[in-house]
Amino acid sequence: MRMILLGPPGAGKGTQAKMLKEKFRIPQISTGDILRKAVADNSELGQEAKTYMDGGRLVPDDIVIELIRERIKEDDCDSGFILDGFPRTIVQAEKLSETLETMGLDIDTVIDFEVDSQELITRLTGRSTCPGCGAMFHGTTRPPKQSGVCDFCGAKLYQRPDDNRETIRKRLEVYENETAPLKDFYRQRGKLKSVQGRGTVEEIFSQVLRLVN
Ligand code: ADP
Ligand code: ZN
Repeated sequence: MRMILLGPPGAGKGTQAKMLKEKFRIPQISTGDILRKAVADNSELGQEAKTYMDGGRLVPDDIVIELIRERIKEDDCDSGFILDGFPRTIVQAEKLSETLETMGLDIDTVIDFEVDSQELITRLTGRSTCPGCGAMFHGTTRPPKQSGVCDFCGAKLYQRPDDNRETIRKRLEVYENETAPLKDFYRQRGKLKSVQGRGTVEEIFSQVLRLVN
């Protein structure tokens, strides 16, 4: 199964991707996570990506496309994958289709998470992230059992540098302008399915499962 999770920052793509990965035993490929790791490692890629990420802008297409091309060729992707945060522009979507075509593959389903922007802002401003396992928590709506510590792996939680008011506003704007047009792109190809991103994590997950089954 090859799927794409589409939706604005804070829509819950990462959380659902992790649950899907456990359920279907296929890798979650998050360009955001790959780029954050490059930044943490201070690699050449990370140094270039950091300025874009800190400003809430997209990293240039050619960089992320190359990352994905390499990643989906790895053995663990043979039985499928979950793309989380890619594609984010029409060019990325077109290049992804081309790459898959040369491999004789295609995307099965694109799940679009619909959440209104006021809710997104609330979620992102109170959010903390686990650097160890990628789990997300929220100060008021989903606090960790022990303050500042990941429930799952015990690592110390941090607030992403791009989860501040100004950068959040920019990310939402970039989403509307660059990424939202992908809904039509995939709708025209008969692949788009939408879920309401409101509700508990489990409720949303059961909606997602209904759509992929
Ligand atoms: P969110 O969806 O919450 O904004 P991500 O972790 O998906 O967070 O992405 C964080 C940042 O990484 C983005 O704001 C952008 O700068 C960069 N990034 C991630 N994926 C892509 C992509 N496919 N194309 C361009 N930039 C990306
Ligand atoms: Zn963790």
